[in-house]
Amino acid sequence: MDNLPENKSNCNAGGGLPVIQYWIEKTLSPQGLQLWQTLNHKSACLSCAWGTGGQKGGFVNEAGEYLQRCAKSVEAIAAELQPGIKQDFFQKYNISELQQLTSQECDDLGRLSYPLILKSGSSHYQRISWEEVYQIATTAFQQLPEKIASYSSGRSANEAAYLLQLLMRSLGSNNLADCSDLCHAPSTIGLKKVFGSGTSMVSLEGLQHSDCLVLIGSNAPANHPRLMNELIQLRARGGKVIIINPQIEIGLVKFASPAFPIKSLLTGGSDISSLYLQPIPGSDVALFVGLQKSLIEQNLIKREYLASFTKNWQQIIDYAEDISWDNITNTCGLSQEEITATAYLIGKSESVVFAWAMGITQQANGVDNVFSIANTALITGNAGKIGAGTMPIRGHSNVQGFGSMGVTVNLREEIKQALSKLLGKPVSETPGYHTRDLIAAAELGKINTLFCLGGNLYAANPDLSQAKRALSQIETIFYVATKPNLGHFHGLGKQQTLILPVFNRFENPHQTTTESGNNFVRLNDVGKSHLQPGNSDLISEVELITEIAHRLHDENPINWRKLQDTVYVRELIAKTIPGYEKIGQIDQTQEEFTITGRIFDEPKFPTFDGKARMFITPLPQLNLPDKSAFGVQENQSGIVLILGTGRGYGQHNTVVYRSADKYRNMPHRHCILMNSLDIKKAGFQQHQRVTVKGSGGELENIEIISGAIREGVAFMFYPEANVLLTAEIDPESGTPAYKRVPVFVY
Ligand code: SF4
Repeated sequence: MDNLPENKSNCNAGGGLPVIQYWIEKTLSPQGLQLWQTLNHKSACLSCAWGTGGQKGGFVNEAGEYLQRCAKSVEAIAAELQPGIKQDFFQKYNISELQQLTSQECDDLGRLSYPLILKSGSSHYQRISWEEVYQIATTAFQQLPEKIASYSSGRSANEAAYLLQLLMRSLGSNNLADCSDLCHAPSTIGLKKVFGSGTSMVSLEGLQHSDCLVLIGSNAPANHPRLMNELIQLRARGGKVIIINPQIEIGLVKFASPAFPIKSLLTGGSDISSLYLQPIPGSDVALFVGLQKSLIEQNLIKREYLASFTKNWQQIIDYAEDISWDNITNTCGLSQEEITATAYLIGKSESVVFAWAMGITQQANGVDNVFSIANTALITGNAGKIGAGTMPIRGHSNVQGFGSMGVTVNLREEIKQALSKLLGKPVSETPGYHTRDLIAAAELGKINTLFCLGGNLYAANPDLSQAKRALSQIETIFYVATKPNLGHFHGLGKQQTLILPVFNRFENPHQTTTESGNNFVRLNDVGKSHLQPGNSDLISEVELITEIAHRLHDENPINWRKLQDTVYVRELIAKTIPGYEKIGQIDQTQEEFTITGRIFDEPKFPTFDGKARMFITPLPQLNLPDKSAFGVQENQSGIVLILGTGRGYGQHNTVVYRSADKYRNMPHRHCILMNSLDIKKAGFQQHQRVTVKGSGGELENIEIISGAIREGVAFMFYPEANVLLTAEIDPESGTPAYKRVPVFVY
């Protein structure tokens, strides 16, 4: 049954020696001791949302298992433990010089140590005091509510997230753009419509009962390394792993996990994929409708389950039956035999988990993709039982917590009511700007003040020249951060740009909480920064937001300064956020918990009648433009390809820690990974330098690397490649299609 694909990587497995070498290198570095102390600190990992760390210890996962910390976590901690940037650095280098830095060079500058301001007409960032920051903020926030906006990432804890949205809503603004608008918004929107809940319905313990996992559009070995331990164990208990990805990632074929050292040493790693499908990017709906059609044909669907627990199921079955196999296979580029074999595996398994990441969501039909996966789960009865269900894999460690805390433009009605009561006035009904709308509004000069709690709004967007232009129309921009990033030097406001340095998660003077992708709430202990107060001037995000709120509102109707003690913030969260009631006692119990109402072990869903909704998913029309769409003659040599952008193995979101990607044989960030047949067809050579042109711009001097990627498809690194694309937008979620970008390579 197993169709292990050809390995074109120089590595024989994901994980393995490079990971162990990295741990050794960091352990032996001057930071080694501090690094290990931090790894053992009782707080959730800063990096991905798999939820490692917390009260049971830094190496413990949500199921209480040890040895679950990965090198990605080490990268993030090591970067936070860098020395502070010296006070004279920003006096020495002007903004034009700072704009020459790469993402990695920005991060390597070290920790931000003092509040900084860049005023219009000035060439240098200058140090200012916190008192000056508060005075500027007080003026900047006194605007019409529609003129202020925030943007955030999942770096901060729940308490800061909750206070951010409370501040914004107290000012009458719903403009709470968030990094999730650019990644998992289709998961939240789609799942909410189907099941009434927008997050994973599978807990880590539940996953450990699964006998089949379908992993779609995810490179978990790089982005969620400890998920790989679950896949290894799933295979060891006789289960199947089906990978769906146009690109073959060696770690999804075989993975050598440091958590299983003996097996890794003896066998060189564990087999991961039982089946590996490489569909055309953006065609997932066709593949999943094909799976449904085949499941019906093989009589592997659960009609009784559908009749009892779902709505619209008959339309979904009729629709799949009516679509021709030709239409399906031509759209997704897979054969009927491949789809049938996959459907058989799914249909014959007891408990199937469908997990996905941005290959699914960063598409022009991201919400439809999620619907089609949910339909497949429902048609096989794989939603609402232990070991089965839908599991979007979230990126940044607390990105899901931000949504739960109300940092969203799609605020749940119950939260809206509770916040209105708390604020003593109705929450504004004016729709807020999500991230893409925020950029569009800013470009039109509709935003005067922008408060960025973490993140890199500039570089995370497609079309970087538009992002730069848009941000330059905003009067005042605040960047709250721990380390510099590209946005601080390119995303400059019209009148002033402020960079405000804060403690990170393991340095806060108060306890905080975070939420993992599987709905588990971690409690983070207080900590201490390695930066000495004499050489730095950091505060907590909680202090920053509450002090701004206090200056704007005094004690009306909330005692904002009292909220500098996060115990009181958690009291408010318990009262206003459904499912989070237990956070009200966490300071007494120190007990981490699973949010109520999110994990479904029985097919009863939080919709008004308890049934899941099924939605028809139209097959996408995937056309490849010809050369003329790129403004070149038909006789110009070169090739049109579908580009997917993604992260390297030494990267977290827009932050690049290491430029080389050993697993893909990409020696630096300016490479394009292409199929060898495409290289030949276009008359190129491996390692030749080419220009890549997209709808948003072009990049020159890009090195061709031959790799295990579907013919007609290419891969480049995000965020560098963002300059190439204007990106189609999913109309349902506003998420850009970073994973299907037509480009011309010449
Ligand atoms: S898998 Fe994710 S949460 Fe776990 S240690 Fe690695 S980066 Fe951190």
